[in-house]
Amino acid sequence: MSEFPTTARVVIIGGGVVGVSTLYHLAKMGWTDCVLLEKNELTAGSTWHAAGNCPSFSTSWSIMNMQRYSLGLYAGLADAVDYPMNYHVTGSIRLAHSKERMQEFERARGMANYQGLSIEMMSNADMKDRYPFLETHDLVGGMWDPDDGDIDPAQLTQALAKGARQMGARIERFCPATGVSRENGEWIVHTDKGDIRCEKVVNAAGYYAQRVGEWFKPYGGRTVPMATMSHQYFLTEEIPELKAWTEASGHKVPLLRDVDSSYYLRQDKNGLNLGPYERNCKGHWMTPDDPMPDDFSFQLYPDDLERLEWYIEDAMARVPILGTAGVGRVINGPIPYAPDGLPLMGPMPGVPNAYEACVFTFGITQGGGAGKVMAEWITEGQTEWDMWAVDPRRYTDYTDQDYCDRKANETYGHEYAMHFPYHAWPEARNKKLSAVHDKVAALGGVFGAYNGWERANWYAQEGDDTSEESTQTWARSGPWQQRIKEECEAVRDAAGILDLPGFSRYKLDGEGAAQFLRDNGTGGIPKIGRIGLIYFADDRGRIVTEVSAMRLAEDTFFIITAATAQWHDYEFLKGRMPVDAKFTITDVTRNFSCQILTGPKSRDILADCSNGDLSLGWLTHQSAQIDGTWVQLVRVSFAGELGWEIHSKVEDTAAVYEAVLKAGEKHGLKPFGMFALNSLRIEKGYRAWKGDLSTDYTLLQGGLERFVKFDKGDFPGKAALLAEKQQGVTKQFVTLTLDEVPASDAPYMSTISHNGEVVGETTSGAYGYRVNKAIALGMLRPDLAVEGTKVTINIFGTDCTATVQKDEPLWDPANERIRA
Ligand SMILES: Cc1cc2nc3c(=O)[nH]c(=O)nc-3n(C[C@H](O)[C@H](O)[C@H](O)COP(=O)(O)OP(=O)(O)OC[C@H]3O[C@@H](n4cnc5c(N)ncnc54)[C@H](O)[C@@H]3O)c2cc1C
Repeated sequence: MSEFPTTARVVIIGGGVVGVSTLYHLAKMGWTDCVLLEKNELTAGSTWHAAGNCPSFSTSWSIMNMQRYSLGLYAGLADAVDYPMNYHVTGSIRLAHSKERMQEFERARGMANYQGLSIEMMSNADMKDRYPFLETHDLVGGMWDPDDGDIDPAQLTQALAKGARQMGARIERFCPATGVSRENGEWIVHTDKGDIRCEKVVNAAGYYAQRVGEWFKPYGGRTVPMATMSHQYFLTEEIPELKAWTEASGHKVPLLRDVDSSYYLRQDKNGLNLGPYERNCKGHWMTPDDPMPDDFSFQLYPDDLERLEWYIEDAMARVPILGTAGVGRVINGPIPYAPDGLPLMGPMPGVPNAYEACVFTFGITQGGGAGKVMAEWITEGQTEWDMWAVDPRRYTDYTDQDYCDRKANETYGHEYAMHFPYHAWPEARNKKLSAVHDKVAALGGVFGAYNGWERANWYAQEGDDTSEESTQTWARSGPWQQRIKEECEAVRDAAGILDLPGFSRYKLDGEGAAQFLRDNGTGGIPKIGRIGLIYFADDRGRIVTEVSAMRLAEDTFFIITAATAQWHDYEFLKGRMPVDAKFTITDVTRNFSCQILTGPKSRDILADCSNGDLSLGWLTHQSAQIDGTWVQLVRVSFAGELGWEIHSKVEDTAAVYEAVLKAGEKHGLKPFGMFALNSLRIEKGYRAWKGDLSTDYTLLQGGLERFVKFDKGDFPGKAALLAEKQQGVTKQFVTLTLDEVPASDAPYMSTISHNGEVVGETTSGAYGYRVNKAIALGMLRPDLAVEGTKVTINIFGTDCTATVQKDEPLWDPANERIRA
């Protein structure tokens, strides 16, 4: 073996399936000068003991993309690198105990079929045909995923390692990274065998990722938001009946997932492998008396089958042959969890040229796709598919360890749970509270967390059911529906007020700030005293972000963006700053708060409590006073009515809020929540970030050409957008209305078809209470994006006819109300 490397383009810390797949994909993309460091033998972390199940199923579009890619890769990998491995594609059955579960499957089926996968729905009889040992009497049905199967995780990792080495990448085993430092814009990764200088570094350290993450704190890093849970499966001894059936049929039984009971059950040789995600789960290394050991390579936790008792009994009732065999081997291993159970993949927040590819709970099935995505981030700074769902920047400053531990327990215990649209997960809440939180709660606010900030989703009245149980539905109807309607109507007829803490906000200040926005945005910038939307594209012309820029002086701006975009947009803007910039960008989110006051009576209300010049037009802003306190009045409304955003210092917000509420009493002012705002904005065709606006679409596809100035100087994305303009778009943003009101709103990525062919997808949906229509926003094949075209939207399995609308807002198309 050649000498220990002293330089490399990229150093990856961690030789589990994810780190090795990243190395393999970097090499495939031509970056062969890369080194992977593994403290022990490859796979020593979570990978060696994983069950190896490989589903393609997901209710997330990007995760499904990643898993689909993995399965395609795994199918050809053994041949590609000449490394035989055990990979069995057995297909899988997911069981449904309820109508809602079948609806979830239907939604996934739509997405899967769109991606070229052949997921199908099953009746109880179909399931019995494929799985004769299954008790089906109490089931509603199921879902067949023919591509599911299991792979040997160690062989998979070794195969990827072999492929990476063949292409020239290096793997150093038994070589722990011991720290990092930075010199002259380069990273130095320290090991006992020597230092390696590199351009970029990747934390792929699995459940050690938080430890490794600590080294990056001096360079802007934060504590990696994660916790470690114990996950167990056990293998039974041989089951003669299963053996006989397998021999007779020539294949194994499919993998079974009873997602409502919360376990998987897979044939392993002639026995079964049962792996529950138990509610009464157990975290490890969470308390001072249970410290994480320095080295846990190839180790397991003690067996704890008692914890699984309920699940074992349930599975035995479902597949009675399970009860005929004794327990063989038990595997109880560490599995890392981010608070939402999805991995951390992408740029490391706050740290230059550093990436995270860690905290995977399904790293075997996601590893292949993860490697591809990471290699794209590292070599190109952007990814083929929008990967916001797993972007580390989705978490910001609220994820203390208490939050991570509690969320990990909640998420693990609900690993297979359905994520209903009106449900808010209850654990580890109240991390960031508005200055008027108690008042909002007293008014009936039913809260949801947005980047950790508690905001009212809707306002309940005396006697309304606000229980978690009531939200276990995909349907629009529920205790909230009448209240949302009333809130929307108040905004339409009088005025509404929405407390909006945590609107992300940066101050851009100093010489060159205006030029920076001009050079980097796709369109124009607002004049002093005005506010305007600025879009930023990547070099493919795809939508990276949308911000509101409030211009206070020649080179002074407040940039306002979505709560969840706080770290993403901050880093993005910082990343685009010239090295010799004379201006600064400062995150001042915590200093200010905002109320949306909107509706035809909002001017009268402000007239009664402020000294502002209320004749100033739409898209203006001004400093004024409410009840003697400074506020910035901004004449915009995401709800699409006459209105102002009232920005105030956090310490003044309570007084301002009280004053507005008091002034509003005689004008019919009503508090409204995020659900009503969503309905109101969809009626106006206003796009939401990472739903309607994402890097999956270009600005031209998104119907945002009016925010692109082709006649100004160069800007990122200009060439691509110009080329696209000449060639024509392949997708086009549309507003659709449903011909008959369906029970549920179209969720993200419902397929749209025309004459039986899939021609597009929805990006968001809601009922519009001002226009009395069910609405969906989405992307459609351009030749069909013509007013009046009839298409079919598949909403949770029901085909619903919808009509393409004219390319203008459904509500107040001439913006007369907003300009009033
Ligand atoms: C019981 C069980 C069953 C599972 N079943 C499945 C399944 O069926 N399907 C599925 O998709 N997923 C499954 N998983 C999850 C899966 O095991 C993990 O998601 C996956 O292995 C994570 O891979 P990784 O590469 O991110 O991390 P790891 O495999 O943990 O790799 C991280 C590596 O980093 C190394 N390392 C740490 N610190 C350093 C350092 N300082 N220097 C150098 N190296 C370092 C470690 O030694 C380790 O080898 C299961 C997990 C458990 C516990």
